[in-house]
Amino acid sequence: MTKKTKILVVEDEAKIAEALRAYLEKAGFAVVEAADGEAGLRSFDETCPDLVVLDLMLPKISGETVCQELRRVSRVPIVMLTAKSGEEDKVSGLTMGADDYVTKPFSPRELLARIQSILRRCGDGISPMYRSLSWNEGDLEMDFESRELKKNGAPVNVTPSEFRILSTLVKYPGRTFTRDELIDSALGMDFDGFERTVDSHIKNLRGKIEDDTANPAYILTVRGVGYKFGGTCAR
Ligand code: CA
Repeated sequence: MTKKTKILVVEDEAKIAEALRAYLEKAGFAVVEAADGEAGLRSFDETCPDLVVLDLMLPKISGETVCQELRRVSRVPIVMLTAKSGEEDKVSGLTMGADDYVTKPFSPRELLARIQSILRRCGDGISPMYRSLSWNEGDLEMDFESRELKKNGAPVNVTPSEFRILSTLVKYPGRTFTRDELIDSALGMDFDGFERTVDSHIKNLRGKIEDDTANPAYILTVRGVGYKFGGTCAR
C-alpha cells in the first residue's frame, strides 16, 4: 500500500486552514495543520511532510523566516500563500526558497493545481529547485529527475529502495531518522522485519558510496537512534 502524500498547512486564519484541509483531503492528501510559525516548524520536524503550504503573514515567526529555516534543514517543496501581489514580493519570495506562490484571495482549486504541478515535477519528493545535488566537492552526485547516482563521476547502480532511502536522508540533511521513520518516509510501507531490511539497504548503500564503510562520510549511524546524512553540499 502506498502512503498518502502529506501536506503541512501553516496558516493562522482558521477559516482558510479549515477550507484547505477539507479540499486537500478530498483530493486524497493527508493534511497536518499549524496555526503559527513556531508550531509550523515543530510540526515540520515531527511529521516530515511531503510539501508545505506556508502563509507569509504568521504570528510568532513570519512565513519568510519559516521558509528560510525550512530551506536550511530540508529540500521539500514549498508553496507560499501571500496577500501581497507586487512583483518585488514574488522575487523576494523566490530568493527565500519557495517553489511557487499563490496570492490571496485564491481558490482552493488554483492552489491544488499548483500543488499537483509541483509534485509532478518533484523527483523523489525533492523540490524541483534541486534537480540535482552534489556533496563533498562533487564526490557524490544525485540527479532526482533521471534517478542517477554518481560516485567520483562514475554511475552507481542502486535499487529503487536504496535511491529512495538516500533521497529521504538528503532531503533532510542532518536530521536523524529512526528506522521506522525511514520506512515511513522513504518506502511508505510496513511489514514485519522491515527494520532489519533498512539496515541491509544502508549496508548495501554504504558499500556503493562510501570510501571507507567503517568510517562513513555520507550515511552516519546515530547510536541508539538511527541514521542521518553527513555529506557537505555546496548549496
Ligand atoms: Ca496570515
